[in-house]
Formats: sequence, C-alpha cells, structure tokens
Amino acid sequence: MSSQEYMNVWAIAEVEQGRLSPVSLELVAAARELADRMGERAEVVLLGHQVEDQAQELIRRGADLVYLADDPTLANYSTEGYLATLTALVEAHRPLVLLLGDTERGQDLAPRLAQRLGTGLIPGCTRLEMDLTEWLLLGTSPAYDDRLMITSSIPRGRPQMATLRPGAVEPFPPDDWRTGSVEKVSLEKVEPVAKIVKRGLEVPRQRLEEARVVVAGGRGMGGPGGFEMLRELAELLGGAVGASRGAVDEGWIGEEHWVGGAGGKAVKPDLYIACGISGAIQHYLGIKDSKYIVAINTDERAPIMDLGDVGIVGNVHEVVPALIEELKDRA
Ligand SMILES: Cc1cc2nc3c(=O)[nH]c(=O)nc-3n(C[C@H](O)[C@H](O)[C@H](O)COP(=O)(O)OP(=O)(O)OC[C@H]3O[C@@H](n4cnc5c(N)ncnc54)[C@H](O)[C@@H]3O)c2cc1C
Repeated sequence: MSSQEYMNVWAIAEVEQGRLSPVSLELVAAARELADRMGERAEVVLLGHQVEDQAQELIRRGADLVYLADDPTLANYSTEGYLATLTALVEAHRPLVLLLGDTERGQDLAPRLAQRLGTGLIPGCTRLEMDLTEWLLLGTSPAYDDRLMITSSIPRGRPQMATLRPGAVEPFPPDDWRTGSVEKVSLEKVEPVAKIVKRGLEVPRQRLEEARVVVAGGRGMGGPGGFEMLRELAELLGGAVGASRGAVDEGWIGEEHWVGGAGGKAVKPDLYIACGISGAIQHYLGIKDSKYIVAINTDERAPIMDLGDVGIVGNVHEVVPALIEELKDRA
C-alpha cells in the first residue's frame, strides 16, 4: 500500500474525570503544525462518556475534525475497549501520522496499537517534524539521561506513530471562530478480559508532569506520615506531590509519584520544593527544567542545596508545618 493512501495527522485525546487532560491540547497543537506543513488536516479521536463539549474545545484548539465515540463503557479507561475502537478507526480512515501522549495511558496503548496495525512507534518525543521529501515523520527524543537526542523515523509502516512528552509543545489558545466538524463513531464492542472491581490507586488532583507546583519528599520525610503534611502543603499551593526513588523504595508513597530522569517522571513546574531529598543526579535530571527549586534539608552539604535556587537548612518536620501555617494565615 503506498503512503499516498494514508492522509492527515491524528491525535488521540485523553479525558480524565470528564475533562481534557492538558496533553490533549498539546497533541492537537502538534498535529495542527504537522498538518499545516503537509497541507493536510489535523484530526482528533475523542473517546469517553458525555464528552461532546470537549469535542468543541478540541476544534477551538486547532482540530479540523473530531471523531467522537461517546459511550458509558468508555467512561473509564480500559486497554481493550480503547484499543478495539482505535484499531477499527485507524484501519477505516488511514491517517498518515498518529500521535498519542507519552503518558501512562499513551504508553499503555501506543505499543499495542502499533503492533496491531503492523507499524512502528517513536516513543517519548520532545520534537516532531515532517520530512516533506520522503513524507516521513521525524520524532526526536532524549536518551541516556538527556545527554543524547535521537531522531527516528518509520520508513515503512503506516501510520507513523509517536508519543509526545507532556509539556513538549505549547497548546494553541482557544479560538472561538475556528470551525470544524464532529463525526460520531460507533464503538467496537469487546468482551473485557479484566474488569475494574475497585479503584485503589490514589488519583492525583493534578498530573505530576503538568503541575505548576510540585512538593516532593524523600527519605528525609522519615515515613509515610511525613507525606501527609506534603499533601497538605501541595493542596494549599495548588500543586501535586512528588517523591524521590528513595521514598518510593521505602514504600512510603506510590510509584506514580516518583520523580526523576532515570525511571521517574520528569517535571517542569514553576516551583519545585524538595523536602528531605539529597539531590542524586538521577533525581535532579527529572527536575532540572523547574523554574525555581527550593530545598529543605538538615544537611547543608547535601547536593540539592547547591543544585537548587534556595536551600533552607532545617528539619522538614519543623519547616513544612511552619510553611503550612503561614499559607493558612494568608488564605
Ligand atoms: C539506575 C538508577 C536510577 C535511578 N533513578 C532515580 C530516579 O529517577 N529518581 C530518584 O529520585 N532516584 C533515582 N535513583 C536513586 C538515587 O540514586 C538516590 O538513591 C535517591 O534519589 C535517593 O533518594 P533520597 O534523596 O530520598 O534519599 P537519601 O539519599 O537517603 O537522602 C535523604 C536526604 O534527606 C535529608 N534528611 C534526613 N532527615 C531530614 C529531615 N528530618 N529534614 C530534612 N532533611 C532530612 C538527608 O540529609 C538527605 O540529604 C536511581 C538510582 C539508580 C541506580
């Protein structure tokens, strides 16, 4: 099949608790830019329940067309349900480029979808370009602790798939004058092999990767109780809670909070508060793009004290409650 039979750039939107996740708007912007360069259309797939309003928002943010599958069975993410509908849609419409978020959901879906479609995947991209001579997507992703940038393409398989890291692309501001269409699509019914019986995972109010403020704790928190006060501080600052691998390894907090450049999530908030974290290189690589880093540590020689912008020499069990009180007084 020649690549001419494949057209347009697709983005797969993500909805959480009825709202579009920020990465969805970034994916639309990336799809829009690639599509404009190719003279093609930016199309978005939106799966969920009672999400019609979000389809209009996607158009305001740059989509020409939204394929909308709205069904109660899509209210919660399930690998098989989403995979079956996406596979059928892609096979029917043949996009040339297919973008997903480099999020937990995207990382779950993208390789499976690529395998089903018999194509390749460029994971974890921070930059996407189009080679208009060969009609090839060029996806650039950092490797080896960000010391190397690797640009890859998928010369044979179609569609050309990539996952885009959250925060890599600026979303377009909403444009109420933009027009586009919404096409309702029917669902591929699948018999689930697994069923959600109970949700035990703490669902963060904000995605760590997208939070403007991150309050993170390490071994210096001394136990799971220490993270309760970090949650309170994060709540007061409208932020998310992160953790070093040290704290995750201790079992004090779930690994969905793990921050770092070597296995943990990379964050880039305006403010990162590192509480009882030594500042090992693997941790620092995940926070280095933060605008402002404040460290609280009893050891003034801890590496984080030099790596951050402000170092507070003190015990987290004294400094953090004092910060909480101060913020409460101001509220
Ligand atoms: C292959 C590999 C990949 C890794 N990837 C990651 C990664 O992605 N992310 C990551 O975080 N780590 C990663 N690590 C682990 C990393 O090397 C460190 O071991 C880890 O970050 C240490 O966690 P920590 O700072 O919480 O603990 P520690 O190094 O034990 O530091 C605890 C800090 O708390 C301070 N402290 C103690 N008590 C108090 C108190 N009451 N008040 C204030 N301060 C206090 C201490 O002075 C100390 O600086 C990786 C390691 C390897 C080998």
